Amino acid sequence: MDDCIFCKIARHELPAEIVYEDAAFIAFLDINPVNPGHTLVIPKEHHANLLEEPEETLRDFLPVIQHVARAVEQATQADGLNVTFNIKPAAGQVIFHTHAHIIPRHADDGLRHWPGKPYATQEDARKLADAIRERMNE
Ligand code: AMP
Ligand code: ZN
Repeated sequence: MDDCIFCKIARHELPAEIVYEDAAFIAFLDINPVNPGHTLVIPKEHHANLLEEPEETLRDFLPVIQHVARAVEQATQADGLNVTFNIKPAAGQVIFHTHAHIIPRHADDGLRHWPGKPYATQEDARKLADAIRERMNE
């Protein structure tokens, strides 16, 4: 896509600290890292988010993410990692080209996990699970 920042990085038209590249994927440092070493992994082909990706791409994507995540973990001496996809603006997505965030975490980094909100009743949980189960067959 012409005006997509990540397509431009994939085409080497914009600068980036590229840490991995193959024919279909590229990984580079996030310019505004949650912690140093925060890395983004993207398929080169443009799709807006994970839900739009062809299955064929997804089959190859996870091994690349794992490969990059191991290198990030070791290079940053992280105690752990968050690997996340933000999907759509409500979930914090601001760049609409699929990307996995690999975020190094340290025991003392002061970041908090998002808070949980328990279901009011077990019935509420069951109804939602039913709704999801129904759509699994679509
Ligand atoms: P998201 O909120 O999931 O869409 O994340 C987009 C991420 O892209 C943010 O963490 C930004 O800091 C990062 N970002 C934006 N522009 C660039 C760029 N030119 N190079 C590297 N990372 C970028
Ligand atoms: Zn793109």
